[in-house]
Amino acid sequence: MEKPYDYLIVGAGLYGAVFAQQAKEAGQKCLVIDKRDHIAGNIYTEKVEGIDVHCYGAHIFHTNDQKVWSYVNRFTEFNRYTNSPVANYRGEIYNLPFNMNTFNKMWGVITPEQAQARIDEQRKAACITNPKNLEEQAISLAGTDIYEKLIKGYTQKQWGRPCSELPAFIIKRLPVRLIYDNNYFNALYQGIPVEGYTKMVENLLGDTEVRLNVDYLKQKTEFDKLADKIVYTGPIDAYFGYQLGALQYRSVRFETETLDMENYQGDAVVNYTDAETPYTRIIEHKHFTFGTQPKTVISREYSAEWKPGDEPYYPVNDEKNGALYQKYKALVNAEPNVIFGGRLGEYKYYDMDQVIEEALDVAKKELTRFWCGK
Ligand code: FAD
Repeated sequence: MEKPYDYLIVGAGLYGAVFAQQAKEAGQKCLVIDKRDHIAGNIYTEKVEGIDVHCYGAHIFHTNDQKVWSYVNRFTEFNRYTNSPVANYRGEIYNLPFNMNTFNKMWGVITPEQAQARIDEQRKAACITNPKNLEEQAISLAGTDIYEKLIKGYTQKQWGRPCSELPAFIIKRLPVRLIYDNNYFNALYQGIPVEGYTKMVENLLGDTEVRLNVDYLKQKTEFDKLADKIVYTGPIDAYFGYQLGALQYRSVRFETETLDMENYQGDAVVNYTDAETPYTRIIEHKHFTFGTQPKTVISREYSAEWKPGDEPYYPVNDEKNGALYQKYKALVNAEPNVIFGGRLGEYKYYDMDQVIEEALDVAKKELTRFWCGK
């Protein structure tokens, strides 16, 4: 019996929406489902007091890929937002990423030569030749002052462990710039959708049928009857019933508050780099879109230990989890009608541009047969 849809897409996040858009363009009929009560997955933005609030953490679009940039601009207009966060260390404000503005504030140096001399001097004084942990690696790359004020407390809060107990490879490369440039991303294109990410995903989905508040895994047999092929963007271990064990994630907890003032911190992103402040960052959402609303919305971000059942955020890229993922991946071969994609389906940290690129590539391979002859 013919099935009512060509593709069932599990997950209305960025990956699912891009695949759905491409399938529609290739003349395929899709049904998109999501267990949440909204589309857009983790890039979901919600209007509060006229401000686009990034509900699952601040998202700044940046890419070097001209193809991806042209693609997203078909579905939304981007503003000129440039990510230039600041660090607050016990009331002292420093520009990030570490650049000549940071060094000038830290040491009063004016020229790149003077800044480099300071870093070299501190590296030498610390007598580190072969960094054995994150603390030694950070000092040898940026010097003791930068480490103590801008790296130590923040990293400790992020990982829940002292830097001396963390592996050096976490900060193999530290962006240290000997130019006056506060632009965090070295990307050719950067910005925030002027109407919010949710609207962008809405435009990607167009008139494709979407059903919310439905958990595919709870009604798998019924849903599998609806389409010839499944695009699954949920967690890969959940798909296989955690039969080999649960993959681990790092989590973040957000405390969001509306304040009766126009401007709370003067920047979208402020990192709290001391160890005592319990949160790592405060996001003031209106600054992503240069908002002039009378109120403001802020989110405090707390690093949190992940436990099964929590919202999965960042995959843990260690040996144990990498090996477990490979075992799950081996089970995928027995599911020829299922495409596993996105950050959860592939257990991989993807920036938005990478997720789009991946979804476009997979869609191209999958849908070529329908495009031929069109
Ligand atoms: P998701 O958005 O997670 O979508 C998957 C969807 O599947 C979800 O909506 C989920 O509800 C649904 N689902 C899962 N299981 C089921 C099921 N059983 N049944 C039905 N539905 C299901 N990238 C950037 O480029 N710039 C940034 O500044 C940036 N900041 C980030 C900040 C944080 C805190 C995090 C965690 C990520 C950030 N990213 C950023 C990455 C970005 O969030 C991802 O690239 C993107 O959201 C991945 O999209 P996705 O479709 O793969 O996953």
